[in-house]
Amino acid sequence: MSHLVARSLSHVLRRTSVRSAQFSSMPDSLEHATGIEKRELLAKVAGNDNPFDLRVLKRGAGTKDCPNQVPSAFDSRIIGCICEEDATTVNWMWLHQGEPKRCGCGHWFKLEYKAPV
Ligand SMILES: [Zn+2]
Repeated sequence: MSHLVARSLSHVLRRTSVRSAQFSSMPDSLEHATGIEKRELLAKVAGNDNPFDLRVLKRGAGTKDCPNQVPSAFDSRIIGCICEEDATTVNWMWLHQGEPKRCGCGHWFKLEYKAPV
């Protein structure tokens, strides 16, 4: 993902965020997407529905025993953690099915399988 894209996405996220720390689920850039993901991304670019389920989710406890659950119909997806309320960047990372991941800020994330609608 280019720095420019990350910056603009960060801007969008911050406009839709409330005052508490949040995280969001986000697709990778078009260059890196493949297969179904790419088709969905192209649909998104074309202005169709919201195939990526793009939204900002409020982080919960985020502990190792009670991680933030990220719904996804794929085996893996990109998530972005807005580590601090006033963070100027989003911390992007891959999240894989069955592999909870800890962000640098200490919050845990876990992929929850969700069948496509
Ligand atoms: Zn974080």
